[in-house]
Amino acid sequence: MSILKEYALYFSPCMLFVMMSVVSCKTTATSTAEKNIVRDIKEVNAGEITAGKKHIAIVGATIIDGNGGEPIANGIVLINGNTIEAAGSAGKIDIPNDAERIDAQGMYILPGFIDSHFHLDNMHGLPALFLQHGVTSVRDPGAWMEAYDGERASGKMIPRLFLAGPHLDAPNPAYPYDAYIVRDSLEAVNVVERQINQGASVIKVYFRLSPALIHNVCTAAHKHGIPVTAHLEITEAMEAIECGLDGVEHITSFGLSLQSKREGEKYRQMVWADNNARKQGRYDVWSRININSKMADSVAGYLVRKGTFVSPTLGAFEYQPEKNNVDSTKLIAFNNMKAFTGKLKKAGVKIVLGSHSNIEYAELGWAFQREMELQVQSGMSNMQVIIAATMENARYFRIDHKLGSIEKGKIADLVLLKENPLQDIKAAYHIARVMFNGNWVP
Ligand SMILES: [Zn+2]
Repeated sequence: MSILKEYALYFSPCMLFVMMSVVSCKTTATSTAEKNIVRDIKEVNAGEITAGKKHIAIVGATIIDGNGGEPIANGIVLINGNTIEAAGSAGKIDIPNDAERIDAQGMYILPGFIDSHFHLDNMHGLPALFLQHGVTSVRDPGAWMEAYDGERASGKMIPRLFLAGPHLDAPNPAYPYDAYIVRDSLEAVNVVERQINQGASVIKVYFRLSPALIHNVCTAAHKHGIPVTAHLEITEAMEAIECGLDGVEHITSFGLSLQSKREGEKYRQMVWADNNARKQGRYDVWSRININSKMADSVAGYLVRKGTFVSPTLGAFEYQPEKNNVDSTKLIAFNNMKAFTGKLKKAGVKIVLGSHSNIEYAELGWAFQREMELQVQSGMSNMQVIIAATMENARYFRIDHKLGSIEKGKIADLVLLKENPLQDIKAAYHIARVMFNGNWVP
């Protein structure tokens, strides 16, 4: 970098951008110091969410804190305004006289769920429905900010909206209406600056973006303390992460990393020629993958070393065979996707939970809970899934200082379940009440 900086004196800014984009990511990947820029990341609708004003004591529920702490039976959670004032076992916390007591005996209280992969896709009312189902924060990894105007103006209570703006892709984009086309490094930097100015709390790159441009995007976003995530399909994941990515969306993004270069190149060229080739192609790829290979081990180890967040979105790829009609390629492929997710978690990778919001095998509004079930099927413990759904996502969003767990001083986004999710993750469907910013969700 220092040589580059010296050269910069002799070149115009445009020349410098060109030079930077041809330098291999290995030597110029964003440094940890740059990633550590602290910024108060906010939801775009922060100013529109009413703060609770009451003093409330939720009494008797088992507290599952989202941090992986030992569950606290017969707990008390005190809420003052929109803040958690105290949380712990009944014997240790005094209930102030002015507090309204809510009897939650037999229930389970968790932090509000956080969804790192929510698409609106013009489904008016879906954010409000998710909130009623316990999802208090959503992140849309690729939609114009304006797409949410209708939801925000609806007057309904909706989750905290963490938006990316359109995802960044290159010609010809897979989703033209949700994409902003980036042609060179200057355009990449400009669009990142613009989207962050508009309130983007993450930047998402799509699969046609070259590694050099991913590097430009990451450097520009990290200067503002904003994380970058990616849907990879035709860029090898480790090569892309080396360019500075903080997270990877979709377990299928690791397809290229888990097969021979020769086979992988066939797949890349197929998708390069036709975006839609990925839809069947990814099942073909994943049906051949050996998740017990050295290749798979090294990907897992690499992700642990880099601290990369992975949002598998298994629900987006789920395949359920019908009685008389079994597509064995899809069945094997989907089982491999689940097994690889479990393998990553076992290795210590930061697995988070993203629902993809509208998926084949979940009733509308319940995709988040379906993803929880699929993560359990992949071999994660119920507790690990709850952490993925709350605190790990808060870290991924960089909002863990204020959300993601039941702790003194954090914002009162809470879910009350009627049954024990540690016993059966299906309990996440049985919502008793949801608290959002200190208010009960109607
Ligand atoms: Zn998506």
